[in-house]
Amino acid sequence: MSILVDPPGVSERSGATLAPPLSTLAFRRIAAQHVSVDGRCDACGFRVSERAPLCPDAAIALHELSRRDGKWARRVQLFDRDTIDLLRIAGAHHQDRVGRCARCGFVFTTDCELCPTLRAVRRELEVRGVVPIVGAERGKGLCAGKARSWEMDGRTAAQWRRAITSCEACPLLAQCRSDADSAIKHGDGPRRMVLAGNAYDNHGNVIDRDRLELYASLTTVSHPRSRAAA
Ligand code: SF4
Ligand SMILES: [Zn+2]
Ligand SMILES: [Zn+2]
Repeated sequence: MSILVDPPGVSERSGATLAPPLSTLAFRRIAAQHVSVDGRCDACGFRVSERAPLCPDAAIALHELSRRDGKWARRVQLFDRDTIDLLRIAGAHHQDRVGRCARCGFVFTTDCELCPTLRAVRRELEVRGVVPIVGAERGKGLCAGKARSWEMDGRTAAQWRRAITSCEACPLLAQCRSDADSAIKHGDGPRRMVLAGNAYDNHGNVIDRDRLELYASLTTVSHPRSRAAA
């Protein structure tokens, strides 16, 4: 009998809704034990097929693990963590020999090669410039979900430059530039941010690319002086 799909006295409801409140470690153990070998689950003997590639226990355990892990990724403020910590987390969420995340049990597919935690960590590492910014999802710009990398406040000229370079490789660059131009025409243009391959100052003027470092040093030194004057 399975502790996940055959709870005593109840048979007609779905296993997923009946999953007892097991610890994450217990779910991980179940996911590790219920692995299909030669078309059968090694632990419960369930015959797997193309339509049912996981036995019921593995399916419930993996569903629960990916739900818990996704919740964790949303809840934890990744930007509070130092880079070493993020790299350590990323290292734990790798694909195991049967195509699942070794840490959270997420099942990888050809369309989805990152588990929710690794996606969140990767995004934060991109924002910090630790790893290169990867391709956009279909129909989205390279900045999608990484808006902080395109902001100028609290970031260095090198980081602005990296955002500009990413824009140049963005599939939506032409559209983005025309949207930016029309926003500028209506007096609603970008301020103090990178957009469509340009860095804009506080007044909405494009900052000359060769002068980004100069602009950065001028705008950075102005803060302590104004504070001192206050
Ligand atoms: S070109 Fe526009 S959409 Fe693409 S990354 Fe730059 S700001 Fe984002
Ligand atoms: Zn099984
Ligand atoms: Zn994972």
